[in-house]
Amino acid sequence: MLRACILMFICLLFLPSCHEGEPYTVYEFMMDTQCSITVYSRADREAVAPVFSTLRSFASSIDRHEEGSDVWRINENAGIRPVEVSEPVFDLIARAKELSLSVGGAFNPLMGALSDLWDFQSPDPRIPTEEEVSDLLEPVDINALVLDEDAHTVYLADSRLVLDLGGIGKGAAGMLASQELSKLGVERAIINLGGNVCCLGSRPDGSPWRVGLQTPQTGSSGYFTTVSCQDASVVTSGSYQRYFEIDGVRYHHILDPSTGWPARSGLVSVSVISPDGALADAYATAFFVLGLDASMEICRRDGLQAIFMTGEGEVVSSY
Ligand code: ADP
Ligand code: MG
Repeated sequence: MLRACILMFICLLFLPSCHEGEPYTVYEFMMDTQCSITVYSRADREAVAPVFSTLRSFASSIDRHEEGSDVWRINENAGIRPVEVSEPVFDLIARAKELSLSVGGAFNPLMGALSDLWDFQSPDPRIPTEEEVSDLLEPVDINALVLDEDAHTVYLADSRLVLDLGGIGKGAAGMLASQELSKLGVERAIINLGGNVCCLGSRPDGSPWRVGLQTPQTGSSGYFTTVSCQDASVVTSGSYQRYFEIDGVRYHHILDPSTGWPARSGLVSVSVISPDGALADAYATAFFVLGLDASMEICRRDGLQAIFMTGEGEVVSSY
């Protein structure tokens, strides 16, 4: 008996590395950002690699810079002909159009040419001229994104337009990963795509996950608040993620579709919490453009949870 107990004790000593409930995280660089998937049971670990592979192929099909991708082909054929795309890509583009219309155009996926002009990643950035901006802004109209549901085709009605799903892609990808994990029997997981966090299920003790919202200061790793999240995504748009500075002025990567210039709405960070990751992503971008009052109005209209931080550091919650 004593020997059995000692043996059991020794076995338990070696168990901590494979405890149920212990997080297991896999990282991969994708969609221009660090991505990770965390699962909490040993059996779930096997699901991570196939889900990453699904994510990888989805990410490359919506990558406008990847030659031959669905979005690349749509852009190559702008003003020429409709392009047939895969079902998930078609659905996402249809979603992007619908969400653009529901926020009065503040989210607009047709501004790829303007993002290229601003080139926020350039080692040698410059401020474009008013004329350069207005030339590229002129054709930007969500109705020029023409979709054929039956043929699964997408057509850009003006050759100057460039489809860019950067403002919605990560939110959609998070939701896709969560659905795929769930199909493989995983009940709880955290998918983090560069700060776009998708929570599957609840914490091992049954309580909701807590997601920290990053303090919007460059280089800061602290959180200004946390939000509860269960079977939902928390998506943040901020002016501190991708930008350049010239003469003390910050030019960041979220453009106002009404001006073609970086949005100046008085907000520095917007987080949207929703079971619909694509919506959370598109709305976070749109709210950043719209500013506090107009965004709160939409939150009331659609019953949405969002948390805003203003340039003065004031934190406002819609719920
Ligand atoms: P991130 O992708 O950095 O998490 P966002 O979701 O806010 O942040 O998306 C910003 C990206 O979306 C930009 O890099 C650009 O590709 C694109 N974009 C910029 N402004 C808009 C806009 N008003 N509507 C739709 N997409 C936008
Ligand atoms: Mg977004």
